[in-house]
Amino acid sequence: MRFLTADYLYPLNTKPIKKGVLQITEQGEVVNIFKSRRDISSESLEIYNGILCPGFINAHCHLELSHLLGLAERNKGLLNFIETMQKRSNYRTSIILEAIKNAEIQMIKNGIVAVGDICNTADTLFQKQKHNLQYYNFIEIFGIRIREINMKIDKGLSLREKFRDIGQKATIVPHAPYSVMPALMKKIVSNFDDYDYTFSLHTHEIKSENQLFNMKNGQLFEWLNNKDADQSIWDNRDNFADIIDELSNNKTIMVHNTYAKKEDLSSNYYCTCPSANLYIENRLPNYKIFNEEKLCVGTDGLSSNISLSILEELKIINNNSEYDLNTLLKIACKNGAEALGFKDLGTFEKGKNPGVNLLKNLDEVKVLL
Ligand SMILES: [Zn+2]
Repeated sequence: MRFLTADYLYPLNTKPIKKGVLQITEQGEVVNIFKSRRDISSESLEIYNGILCPGFINAHCHLELSHLLGLAERNKGLLNFIETMQKRSNYRTSIILEAIKNAEIQMIKNGIVAVGDICNTADTLFQKQKHNLQYYNFIEIFGIRIREINMKIDKGLSLREKFRDIGQKATIVPHAPYSVMPALMKKIVSNFDDYDYTFSLHTHEIKSENQLFNMKNGQLFEWLNNKDADQSIWDNRDNFADIIDELSNNKTIMVHNTYAKKEDLSSNYYCTCPSANLYIENRLPNYKIFNEEKLCVGTDGLSSNISLSILEELKIINNNSEYDLNTLLKIACKNGAEALGFKDLGTFEKGKNPGVNLLKNLDEVKVLL
């Protein structure tokens, strides 16, 4: 047994406890929480400076894009970013795999214990089958032309199978409202089964997304037309509520929300990726609009970030919101675990095995377990 204590303990399902003690097994299972150090013999205590919180949940990442670090130019906007990502396959497999491996090592070092990871390929399978971290794999589909629908779904199903075969959680998800036509959305929703827990969707990442649906014009409208996109993408959708209807009441993590307004939000979980938003669009979401119990955080991929660190994301949120430390840590741990359905993670509650991070003033993270 280990008895860990620091200046404050942040269980996250209860208020912070000054000089509280966390009792865990050698394997990391939470056995008990003590309000006072006096309840434990002093020679058993491991005393640290700083605060203790559960392992971080990276609710949105693209691990398979790790080799594209630095490729996209900053502040060129989302459409430029998407075009740059077309170069993702112009690399040797060994370079792609090495970058994935190193990115996972970086996440572990930064106190991350679970990841919501977007997958367009099977490139990350070799690393995930080592089970170093827990992953919820979102098998992402794009489709803007009717003739491609069956091919896209078949590819998604076969990729989902590969992940499930190695014991991974995997769900077929739509990329974004503008990149998935309603007929394809319907097929994606019909393939949600008993092994699935939640969808993920990139939302409100670009200003012209609202304009596309509300006005049927703008930058995104032009871009889609140039790509010969089917007009059902905007014709049958007038606002964001129409997209939510298409998801048929399934749980969905809405990712980015950089241009979302309060009236766009629903009872779903919302994921913010502030470093990536600054990198691509040079803008942040309005943090006043979110329900604090439903906001989680992701690093996005190394294609739009310089590191995979939840602590770095928290620093940006902290500088641009009114959240207190307990709320910031809930965003980093508890809410992400709930959004992704990781019942064992996110809080220091008896029976869970959430990992333990030691933080010093939001400056530095040390992994204790
Ligand atoms: Zn993303």
